Amino acid sequence: MEKLLTLQEELTEAKVKLVAVSKTHGPEAILRLYREGQRDFGENRVQELLEKQPVLPADIRWHLIGHLQTNKVKYVVPFVHLIHAVDSPKLLFEIDRRAEAIGRVIPCLLQFKIAEEESKFGLSWEEATQLLEDPRFPELKHVLIAGVMGMGTLTDDEAQTRREFRTLKRYFDQLKSTFFPDSDSFRELSMGMSDDYHLAIEEGSTMVRIGSLLFGERE
Ligand SMILES: *Cc1c(COP(=O)(O)O)cnc(C)c1O
Repeated sequence: MEKLLTLQEELTEAKVKLVAVSKTHGPEAILRLYREGQRDFGENRVQELLEKQPVLPADIRWHLIGHLQTNKVKYVVPFVHLIHAVDSPKLLFEIDRRAEAIGRVIPCLLQFKIAEEESKFGLSWEEATQLLEDPRFPELKHVLIAGVMGMGTLTDDEAQTRREFRTLKRYFDQLKSTFFPDSDSFRELSMGMSDDYHLAIEEGSTMVRIGSLLFGERE
């Protein structure tokens, strides 16, 4: 697992957190990284996460990085560490409701649509500000908006990826100064994957989500 160690060193130097994206890989592969000290793992599908979580060490911090349907919120709320993909008010309200029922506060990131290509999920700037200005928002005591997340276009065009990452960084800065000026909790900029994490770090990422570089290509 030299790759993990090299990557961890590189990220520590840059003060960037690593989420190891373990989707499609089984418990054994996850344990290999766990034994090397990795504790943050990311899954994009709820069903898959629910199969792995109970058979793996309890101190793993599970990140849900994919789209979350409101009817599945109740399954992840008891243990999830960070939900990266909040893309609607409805979802945020449901997370709050389910978290309140079990006495947890769930850190969440607002997912933005930054890819210039068609992508299904993510908020626009207008949608995000509407959500934060909603008079009901301050009443949500069981979610904590911890920052933003986005995915760049899958492309070899570095300039395009950089533009998209810059847009997300700008959103992050604007939300911070407008809505969370005194909050220490609003601090994560989740951007960068195996192919573009160097660019993401140069553009201000605080948390990268890396799968294939660590686990090998997926089927
Ligand atoms: C799969 C996935 C990643 C990791 O992708 P790699 O290219 O394997 O590093 C990161 N973020 C999200 C949301 C993903 O679904």
